[in-house]
Amino acid sequence: LSERLSGVFDRLTKQGALSDEDVKTALREVRVALLEADVSLPVARDFIKTVQEKATGQAVTKSVTPGQQVVKIVHDALVDVLRGEGDPGKLKIDNPPAPILMVGLQGSGKTTTTAKLAKRMKEKDGKRVLMASLDTNRPAAMEQLAILGAQIGVDTLPIVKGENPVQIARRAKTQASLGGYDVYMLDTAGRLHIDAELIQQAADVRDVANPRETLLVVDGLTGQDAVNVATEFDDKIGVTGVVLTRMDGDGRGGAALSMRAVTGKPIRFVGIGEKMDAIETFEPERVAGRILGMGDIVSLVEKAQETIEAEQAEKMMKRMMKGQFNMNDLRMQLEQMIQMGGMQGMMGMMPGMGKMAKQVEEAGFDDKILKQQIALIQSMTKKERANPQILQASRKKRIAKGAGMEVSDLNKLMKMHRQMGDMMKKMGRMGKGGLLKQAMK
Ligand code: GDP
Ligand code: MG
Repeated sequence: LSERLSGVFDRLTKQGALSDEDVKTALREVRVALLEADVSLPVARDFIKTVQEKATGQAVTKSVTPGQQVVKIVHDALVDVLRGEGDPGKLKIDNPPAPILMVGLQGSGKTTTTAKLAKRMKEKDGKRVLMASLDTNRPAAMEQLAILGAQIGVDTLPIVKGENPVQIARRAKTQASLGGYDVYMLDTAGRLHIDAELIQQAADVRDVANPRETLLVVDGLTGQDAVNVATEFDDKIGVTGVVLTRMDGDGRGGAALSMRAVTGKPIRFVGIGEKMDAIETFEPERVAGRILGMGDIVSLVEKAQETIEAEQAEKMMKRMMKGQFNMNDLRMQLEQMIQMGGMQGMMGMMPGMGKMAKQVEEAGFDDKILKQQIALIQSMTKKERANPQILQASRKKRIAKGAGMEVSDLNKLMKMHRQMGDMMKKMGRMGKGGLLKQAMK
């Protein structure tokens, strides 16, 4: 996908404000990216429409292409949709014992997530947690929770054969109060598909426990189906948040966007592996980058916006077109390069440029050289910087010595300056259709 998108961007090289056509071309690709990431069609359609209105006519930051700029706009809009209200990592666990109900389909990761969250609350919040398995369908499921509990040092409710989920929930509640626990977690049974019995069971348990949090656990790889599951559970049980599991896999996380857009429920945590520590608070930026698969371009645009002051660059370009490219201009350019992560950093961020970044590295053209060149320029007087042509042998010696370098280093810098100046003069002369003129529109 990255490749296809960068292909489109290459064609969109003129700069200025985003035209209708730029936006449409880029958004066609973004739409494909969304669908490939399992965002549902109506959600993708709505989303694209919003972005289209936002993007058209927006000014393009110099040094990035319109396509890149659209991706940044799309990314920010994704983050807006994904971000719920409040702090996703903060569970309501005051007023002990606070019940937390875990629901979801079979195999979505409920039991694992129950234990991960219990460990987190124990370690981060210093809470005493009791976990209870309500999975009466599979005796092995109860064992599974007990084993995880022993592993992380969290108590589990003793298993009593023959009880139904509601009875277990009651016992957990009593035990949590008597035992002085801060939190008790109810890990329910799942089904492969949602059905009336499963929902009824979860509703009965909810009525007994009156949970402070009802977390829906959803497999991040399931895609489209996740939206139906989330809608159904929320309608019938009422959920306070979603946990997306298996985000360590190949899934793109599009389900997250659909779920947010359709149910409005906040995503709270993300499961990123089978181990007990493999859980993170949900970060919309990360998932947005993943859905687009274009995280690098987003950071490139952000950096460009941070470091380049459009006005300053424009002034410089005007001077350069007249062939007045002096050492101060060169220094500004070198400094901008360093700010943007140096040559390698910049190229590494551009799709398809990774190889070139490596060549640059091998050629020894790194930040150190940029800094040396800046030091040489700093060693010049004001007059010398504005008119580098006055640099004769004695001045050169003084400048090189001042910067702790050789005259040959200074000669290299001057050669580079001359070549850049020549190139810019040529581009400036191309007249109205010239590259630089067009870039300044
Ligand atoms: P439940 O049926 O909903 O209780 O699901 P389980 O908690 O038993 O999890 C089913 C399987 O998914 C187990 O093998 C877990 O180790 C695995 N699993 C759960 N969460 C994650 C995750 O975030 N990443 C990965 N890679 N595996 C997970
Ligand atoms: Mg389970």
